[in-house]
Amino acid sequence: MYVASRVFPDADTFFSPGAIAVSGGAIVAAGSPADAERALPSGFERLEFPGGAILPGLVNAHTHLQIPRLPLPSGGSRRAFVDWILGVIAWKRAAAPEEFRRNFEEAAAASLAAGTTTLGEICGPDASVYRDCPMRTRVFAEGVGFAPEVAGQVLSMVEAAIGRLEEAANETGGRVAHGVSPHTLYTVGPALLALLGGLAARKGIPACLHLAESQAEMEFLSSGRGDVADRLYPAVGKDVSWFGGIGMSIPRYLRNAGLLRKGLLLVHNVHLARKEIDGLWRSGARFVLCSRSNAAHGNGSPDVTHFVDAGIPFALGTDSLGSVPDLSMWEEMRAARSLYRGKHPEGELCRVLFRAATRNGSEALSFPGGALLPGLPADFVVADDAGGEGVEASIRNLLERTAAGNVRLTVVGGRRLWERA
Ligand SMILES: [Zn+2]
Repeated sequence: MYVASRVFPDADTFFSPGAIAVSGGAIVAAGSPADAERALPSGFERLEFPGGAILPGLVNAHTHLQIPRLPLPSGGSRRAFVDWILGVIAWKRAAAPEEFRRNFEEAAAASLAAGTTTLGEICGPDASVYRDCPMRTRVFAEGVGFAPEVAGQVLSMVEAAIGRLEEAANETGGRVAHGVSPHTLYTVGPALLALLGGLAARKGIPACLHLAESQAEMEFLSSGRGDVADRLYPAVGKDVSWFGGIGMSIPRYLRNAGLLRKGLLLVHNVHLARKEIDGLWRSGARFVLCSRSNAAHGNGSPDVTHFVDAGIPFALGTDSLGSVPDLSMWEEMRAARSLYRGKHPEGELCRVLFRAATRNGSEALSFPGGALLPGLPADFVVADDAGGEGVEASIRNLLERTAAGNVRLTVVGGRRLWERA
């Protein structure tokens, strides 16, 4: 039993004082200390956090924990993004094999210390790290290949990675789960896209796609020209002169590949029209916004205002340390907040963003959780209570005043994985 000054089961309410009862890795009660006590057999362990707030664990719905800090090309120009991608390719080729696990372990520890319990992770070069992953993690096996003749071979590699991730799922009791990720529409050609769409449908697993991140991507998708054709592909010795653009709208292209359905997770979504976002949403797609990463690359900003005002749920992700200075979801919530230009009052906006970093993230990754309710996994954090009258002011204070240093305890599946000394 965990007792604190306040418990926020979700973005809608709180109990003061509050407590949650945990048994067998799941929440069995959340409410007043008396409620929690009644739900447990005698002899339970009781931990007290005066001045603390118990919150659902934060969900980083898009990251790459094996990628380390990388120098960002200066200038923030349109050319810079392609330079950065070439930098990632060069890093991956030159990295020592043991580096991937070390990067992953350091990034996972930093995430836990900042209150993140759940990840949407793009599988890095070392797939063996995920069987030891302490967090609830959806690992997407990534496929990259543009030419039609490589599609079959890349599909086999993705299937092999999924096999290894299925072992991790078995060994972790489902805490680690898998999915498939066609990297992007400019690095996965039509043939491979259809094969990966088919694989996701056949296995009934979620799919994750980086979409509409940069102007260079949009230019390549519409005409087959621009920086992707003229600089990215020549630098890796590949010929894409046969490609003249996708020749239709992005939603239709995704639908034709068999990807546009429930379980499709679209990451970035910077250069989409509002109509396209609405249509993708109605077709079952879900969205992750990574606004700090977009800003770092000079790629623009996601349309937070439209997502919030149209009531379209979205999740938040940091992207990798190659793009952002830290993996804090608190910073990510604040960055998204700074982009909002609509008429929602601040308190209400903060609740929407808190939901984005908790419940919407879990839903986007097809995991149970994101709230402290009986039957859900005991994934939660204890942070310093930031005070405030009423739920809107309280969540606004949490968003404004909480950083990694305010997180006292992080628990995943009932296991205390990180505790402030
Ligand atoms: Zn990414």
